[in-house]
Amino acid sequence: MIKVSVSKTTAKGYATGQAYIVRQQEVTIDQNKITQQEVQREIYRYEDAVLKAKEELKELAKKSPIFEAHMILVEDMMLYDGVVNKIKDEFNNAEAALQRTGNEFVEMFENIDDEYMRERATDMKDVTFRIMRHLKGIPENAFLNMTKPCIVVANDLTPSEVSQMNMKFVVGLITQEGGITSHVSIIAKNMGIPCFVGVDGILEKVKSDDIIIMDALESEILIHPDEATINLYEKSAIAYSQRQQEIKRMGNLPSVTVDQRKFCLCGNVGSLEDIKQAILQPIDGIGLFRSEFLYMEKDHFPTEQEQFDAYQNAALLLEKKELIIRTLDIGGDKKLKYYEFMNEENPFLGYRAIRICLDQPEIFKTQLRAILRASAYGNIKIMFPMIISLEELYEAKRILEACKGELTKEEIDFDKDIKVGMMIETPASVFLAEDFAKEVDFFSIGTNDLTQYILAVDRGNQKIATLYNTYHPAVLRAIYHTILSGHKQGILVGMCGEFASDKKAAKLLLGMGLDEFSMSAAEVADVKYELRKTSFHKVQEMLNEVLNASSVEEVLNLIVDL
Ligand code: PEP
Ligand code: MG
Repeated sequence: MIKVSVSKTTAKGYATGQAYIVRQQEVTIDQNKITQQEVQREIYRYEDAVLKAKEELKELAKKSPIFEAHMILVEDMMLYDGVVNKIKDEFNNAEAALQRTGNEFVEMFENIDDEYMRERATDMKDVTFRIMRHLKGIPENAFLNMTKPCIVVANDLTPSEVSQMNMKFVVGLITQEGGITSHVSIIAKNMGIPCFVGVDGILEKVKSDDIIIMDALESEILIHPDEATINLYEKSAIAYSQRQQEIKRMGNLPSVTVDQRKFCLCGNVGSLEDIKQAILQPIDGIGLFRSEFLYMEKDHFPTEQEQFDAYQNAALLLEKKELIIRTLDIGGDKKLKYYEFMNEENPFLGYRAIRICLDQPEIFKTQLRAILRASAYGNIKIMFPMIISLEELYEAKRILEACKGELTKEEIDFDKDIKVGMMIETPASVFLAEDFAKEVDFFSIGTNDLTQYILAVDRGNQKIATLYNTYHPAVLRAIYHTILSGHKQGILVGMCGEFASDKKAAKLLLGMGLDEFSMSAAEVADVKYELRKTSFHKVQEMLNEVLNASSVEEVLNLIVDL
């Protein structure tokens, strides 16, 4: 048996099946030079192939919106002009002109410094191949010989290829290339089947019909497993699917522990699309709307109206559920295309988040006015990031009050009682938690940053990734101190850092008294399932010992049975 570890896993679960290897369809392109008289004929041939590709895509788009994006690419005027110019000016035949233009586009996408855009190279390859097939009269590869449960293994899979598969038989997908934002990942996630992407060299290790097991919980591929291993995994797969069914069933049950302690589960989002997904999960609201994504996807600072539209839509989607909008948190590793950040030795300790907003109040006011206006349409709360001093908080609140004054004068409606909170993500805010708690309506602990600042460990540095551990006693004690300080002043304390979705951590945090757990919405059902099985009192009983532990190892040993 061969074991292969993988790093990019999308949908979770297990799959066992025979390998179905997909090889790229080989197409030879004749590079004939054509004559002036043949130019028009080649243009017609190209236009005819595009038309046929469009007809196919129209049908496919009824099944998956991915193909709507392909329709746009197929009709792209730059692609058309690129091909036609090579036919007219360089006397390429239609096939050669398409191949060259397609490659230029793919290369351009692959060189963009953004994973999402790089993935679009696959769409371009897919679209040009579809047109090429029609030019050459090649029928679609129909994956006809798929007749039993199989795990598809390929260099990369285009949406077209996935759409041709008989999904009744596909139990898992593995590709050598691609990232977690590739379409194949998205499709697998929607279907709930395990999918590993970017598995280097897998095509050299697996042959057609080899039995393989995908363990998407441990992120492993087992090639040629023995009988005993297959049986073991069969049992795990049954247990996993029972658990998933129970999780689904439990969606509408109340968020309470076995001893009736209530907890609140929320989603972290960065866009309206995320909210649409999040509301399908058992969430009580949105505990963190990372508003900076609105700024990052534009080519200008979003106007008050643009922001108002987004926040209003978000509030309406959530009906009356809580929506905590965090004000702009750029800087650090989050940059804007249209704003030049000065070079800094330590960007994470530099000009970021609330520091920028207080330094450039016009930017801040535009956002605050938009949030306030949207607050008339739902249960919106405002949250300030990266606060380190009371002066900063007072200044942020002063600007907020000024915005409220303006809107009142302009007779624009907003929630006069809008709640204002702050993130606790700096050591300074932990030490001053009690003072801050007198000034805000809620805290949300940002463990992603809090961990890096307390431990002085860069959260994005792979080399020291093992040092970055929120179970470090210093971080746990800081979290506990924050919860106690908040409660002493009667305010709610939530957490929107990743730690809230760690199942063991969630139980520990519940015992510490945390009121709200906010996380990527896909994790909510799992955490709810775990917390509903937990006894609040039992965790409380062990809390002192955990908080007195002096090393990560000691902490982990103490909570091993949680
Ligand atoms: C955090 O720091 O924990 C947090 C939630 O904010 P972000 O990850 O956006 O910095
Ligand atoms: Mg943060």
